[in-house]
Amino acid sequence: MNFKTEPATIAAFLEDTSNLKNGWTPGVFFPETPEEVAALLRDAVADGRRYTIAGNGTGTTGARIPFGDHVIAMQKLDRIGEVEVAGDERALLRVQGGALLQDVQAKASAAGWFYPPDPTEKTCFIGSTISNNSTGSRSLKYGPTRNHVQALKIALPQGDLLDIERGERFADADGRFTLDLPLAGRVTFRLPDYAMPTTSKHNAGYWSTPGMDLIDLCIGSEGTLGVIVEATLLLHPAPERVIACIAWFRSEEELLDFVGKARAESGGVSPRALELFDRRALEFLRQRYPEIPAKTSGAIYFEEESTADGEDGCLEAWLDLMERCGSPVEKSWAALDSVGLQKLRDFRHKLPVLVNEWLSRQSESKVSTDMALPDERFADLFRLYRDACDREGFTYIIFGHIGNAHLHLNILPRNHEEFVRAKALYRKFVAEVLAMGGTLSAEHGIGKLKSEYLVQMYGREGIMEMVRVKKALDPYLVLNVGNMIPKEYYE
Ligand SMILES: Cc1cc2nc3c(=O)[nH]c(=O)nc-3n(C[C@H](O)[C@H](O)[C@H](O)COP(=O)(O)OP(=O)(O)OC[C@H]3O[C@@H](n4cnc5c(N)ncnc54)[C@H](O)[C@@H]3O)c2cc1C
Repeated sequence: MNFKTEPATIAAFLEDTSNLKNGWTPGVFFPETPEEVAALLRDAVADGRRYTIAGNGTGTTGARIPFGDHVIAMQKLDRIGEVEVAGDERALLRVQGGALLQDVQAKASAAGWFYPPDPTEKTCFIGSTISNNSTGSRSLKYGPTRNHVQALKIALPQGDLLDIERGERFADADGRFTLDLPLAGRVTFRLPDYAMPTTSKHNAGYWSTPGMDLIDLCIGSEGTLGVIVEATLLLHPAPERVIACIAWFRSEEELLDFVGKARAESGGVSPRALELFDRRALEFLRQRYPEIPAKTSGAIYFEEESTADGEDGCLEAWLDLMERCGSPVEKSWAALDSVGLQKLRDFRHKLPVLVNEWLSRQSESKVSTDMALPDERFADLFRLYRDACDREGFTYIIFGHIGNAHLHLNILPRNHEEFVRAKALYRKFVAEVLAMGGTLSAEHGIGKLKSEYLVQMYGREGIMEMVRVKKALDPYLVLNVGNMIPKEYYE
């Protein structure tokens, strides 16, 4: 296994898309097998090392940035197996934790299958998407990554390699798991005792539901409980056809009406994706796409799966809904084939990319939200963000997964005074969203940037419930310490 200490190599591991600065590490390990990852962890205490796991650096929360830890880089664990058909409606694909999502999707697609999780950014590693329970536009129909993971091989913090198959290990009536491990011995712990929000997307803190499967504790644990070295993914039959369209709206109220009707499947539509671009987001995109219609108050990107026979009817149902909601049908951008679909998806992806590029040239960081409300409250979330930012006079955009009441607000401060006010507003948003039954993070996770707000969500008691689980599996605190759980709670 390679171990690199050259500054030029290390530099790439001190960043992600969060703008978090001042990370440092004595060196980066590049394991090539699950056993090599396990050996690093087994010897961590004797070697006097802590480790931070690095995926491909597209995360937004500073989670892969080390502050003194050694780094375990996952990129050499990138093998992808062959698709194994396991019935008419399902197939399995075994991959290593460092396989690129886009390569996994391509492999599934070449065999006529489909891996639904699609967190917009395709250059992330599969292990990271599992450890973050990533979601994306298609989660409206298919749910988060956890719904598509059949088995995991995890290198645990004391060096054991544990295979977990979905459906085999459940919490007992007391919420307790007991594992007998070759190196760690008997490990027993109860699930965190707290209630989870009722949002359809949630990725803040350890998963905890009565009688749950052990695999669901590991998914979304942000690398704090082990390194995902291998995963068996569940594939679906590829849809025969996908129609996609961007519908423009002259008023925000018409747009919200459209979303409500589409979610209710009014007129027979059945979206797999419903994504928002508010007026300001479209202005941002206009620099690359001048053809965006003038006088537009916002847009919705939608996708629906169909068949060759059903495609015309499906399109008609959508056009009818657009007309009923005041969207000028003749101006819409529709895609009926894979080339057109890719163009529209590129348009959707371009927005966060342009924002990140713009930010890299600014002195202040953006203040961005990843919160969600229970699905039916999508309009409340939009109005909460819009009204408060207008009152403050901020430059901002709102976009994202409106079908799941999960919107990204990006406040773009023009100076430090605005940044400070934006941070204060963020804290207020957290309080209001939590009071409305929402979650602090629907998909990006907590990482290092948002751990203080996790305390706002769960209180000290809730955080100590997580510490209990973390310490049962990682008693010497060697793995991803500082992520999710604020460090001071370990003392
Ligand atoms: C333009 C853009 C759009 C995005 N859109 C979305 C979106 O729609 N939905 C969404 O969910 N996310 C989105 N993201 C966030 C990001 O792509 C995901 O969080 C992704 O899972 C990060 O993958 P990565 O390989 O880059 O991980 P990194 O950033 O390198 O690491 C992320 C975390 O995963 C941990 N980790 C990495 N590998 C492993 C492993 N094998 N085992 C255990 N832990 C591990 C790291 O320690 C760290 O905590 C977006 C990002 C960008 C830049």
